[in-house]
Amino acid sequence: MPQGLIIKGIGGFYYVKTEEGIVECRARGKFRNENITPLVGDMVTVSIHNNSNSLDKIHERKNQLIRPPVANVDQLIIVFAAVKPEPNLELLDKFLIVAELNNMDIAICINKIDLIEAPLIEGMFAPYKEAGFNIIYTSTKKDIGIEDLKLYLKDKVSVFSGPSGVGKSSLLNKLHPSFNMETGEISKKIERGKQTTRHTQLLELHEGGYVADTPGFSSLEYEAMKVDYEELDYLFPEFRDFLGQCKFTGCSHTKEPGCAVKNAVEEKQVNKRRYESYVRMYDDIKKLGRNY
Ligand code: GDP
Ligand code: ZN
Repeated sequence: MPQGLIIKGIGGFYYVKTEEGIVECRARGKFRNENITPLVGDMVTVSIHNNSNSLDKIHERKNQLIRPPVANVDQLIIVFAAVKPEPNLELLDKFLIVAELNNMDIAICINKIDLIEAPLIEGMFAPYKEAGFNIIYTSTKKDIGIEDLKLYLKDKVSVFSGPSGVGKSSLLNKLHPSFNMETGEISKKIERGKQTTRHTQLLELHEGGYVADTPGFSSLEYEAMKVDYEELDYLFPEFRDFLGQCKFTGCSHTKEPGCAVKNAVEEKQVNKRRYESYVRMYDDIKKLGRNY
């Protein structure tokens, strides 16, 4: 029986990319009974019949995003603008946590670099580079970095996310001839008015790999993060070398004496602003009483 990837779902039909081409099928009734909805990005088994094909089995998911609804996302491309709007680094830190929690690869894409001097922006993101994150600088206006971005997308299923106005739609339009997204706030509002339901699709890239045609969440609440404050430290990759070296086991790295992470901040081995971002998230999540 053919296996494949759901690239589109519309009106109860699923479109599955298999080795033999795209198969249109309906989900078996058992999924409805079990309250399971097949998602774009699902790996599935289908069977081919004369009158109608059926989607028989959904393979186990490695993760699942809610916005956009896509399963098995390999990579999150987190887009911020160099300016207009000014990057909100604390928000970036939250996006990074969500990606780490969901086992997704991460690429940080800084767009609109045509509007700012390169050293200024590289300085701002140096702590992220030092922490080991991939950073791509792009400009859709001046066609900078688009080829680099394509290299990151190759052979992966990627979702773009980031605040509104940073250039996500403009970037998607550069990647694929069939991306044809409205850019700019006013036209998007008109577009949303016209189209009440948007169906997310995975578009196959010429170079290999897929990109969701709907950008992801643009702001985050801790509610959605499902992170345990006691595990937050592991989600800051630049802390990992120091964890386990604190004086107290179970050190929260906020107030305890003899904390190796705090010490690393003092010795400038860990960026102070990233550390402060950690402390704020830790306190906020703790206040919510979250421990999963
Ligand atoms: P989205 O809300 O993240 O999807 O952002 P859009 O793609 O709609 O872009 C928002 C605005 O930024 C539009 O007016 C774009 O023309 C503009 N924009 C997008 N990319 C760039 C860029 O690289 N440089 C400059 N200067 N403007 C850009
Ligand atoms: Zn500590």
